[in-house]
Amino acid sequence: NQTIRLASRPTGAPTAETFQFTTSEAPTPTPGQVLLKTRYVSVDPYMRGRMSAAKSYVAPFEVGEPIAGGVVAEVVESNLDKLPVGSLVVGNLPWQQYTVSDGKGLQQIPAGPAPISYFLGLLGMPGLTAYFGLLDICQPKAGETVVVSGAAGAVGMVVGQLAKIKGARVIGTAGSDEKVAYLKELGFDEAINYKTANIAEALAAAAPNGVDCYFDNVGGEITDAVYDLLNKHARIALCGQIASYNATEAPVGPRPEGKLLKTSAKLQGFIVSDYLPQWPEGVKQLTEWYSQGKLRFEETITEGFDQIPNAFLGLFKGENTGKALVKVA
Ligand code: NDP
Repeated sequence: NQTIRLASRPTGAPTAETFQFTTSEAPTPTPGQVLLKTRYVSVDPYMRGRMSAAKSYVAPFEVGEPIAGGVVAEVVESNLDKLPVGSLVVGNLPWQQYTVSDGKGLQQIPAGPAPISYFLGLLGMPGLTAYFGLLDICQPKAGETVVVSGAAGAVGMVVGQLAKIKGARVIGTAGSDEKVAYLKELGFDEAINYKTANIAEALAAAAPNGVDCYFDNVGGEITDAVYDLLNKHARIALCGQIASYNATEAPVGPRPEGKLLKTSAKLQGFIVSDYLPQWPEGVKQLTEWYSQGKLRFEETITEGFDQIPNAFLGLFKGENTGKALVKVA
């Protein structure tokens, strides 16, 4: 039974040395427990924050302890009536091939609506992040212009499609021409490769009527450029700042306060768990739109437990389109 632990806290970008593999006997479930076989592991940008000691909205991982995150697992032995053998669950579980659990915090995956891995993507944490961040904070209206950064990622591609469902004009930024082409295929009105374009000029050209909503996954220079285009009463959902997750010094740049003041814009940070009581409602609506063909989703699936660190490191190099996952078994 292999486990991946935090070997040391990274300074700057994590590397293979950040992770340590250990092997032990597979655990045996005691009464009231199940044995879970890991099927899919989710690698997520927020996990970089947990590798640092700094206080945040989730506790840091401890050096030497297993790394944990979103996992889809199958019950292979059960001493728990509510989770018979064969049940599929999603939960926050260690990066480990087999794990015992008392079932607390695990959510059973319903048969049918979508591939089981989607409960780590469209119908899981990233999809809900897009759903609540866009619909509750940005509240786009028909005809408005919505910009989403990190648009070809798990959260971003859902944000753009939801904004289209609401009748908005949607502009996405992403890091390759392939991703830009994919976003156009998904129905984005405009997509910009921020690595090759002059981002300020390209955004200004793509948003001739200004920007009403900005869903920020990235921060940095893309965000600086969007702030120059804000319309009166613009709404900004501050979801992530991946451009600075590996920074060793506080990022500096233009100070946006004046632009927010002048436009009476609303900037709101949020964590998807702020909406925990409403998650079932979000999953229901996302499932409905997916079933009706109004939402599409993409995954980049790497195979093999030993590839989990590489898949995680790939997030910071833009290797994934849609949800980055590792298929373990
Ligand atoms: P993604 O699937 O979007 O994967 C990360 C992507 O970020 C990469 O594919 C890459 O795409 C892009 N990226 C990496 N480094 C940079 C950089 N320096 N500058 C610009 N883009 C970069 O991840 P998620 O969809 O899971 O997450 C998106 C964002 O949302 C993250 O910031 C994450 O932390 C945040 N988040 C916040 C939540 C909340 O509750 N507030 C919950 C979930 C996610 P590219 O090729 O375009 O560069």
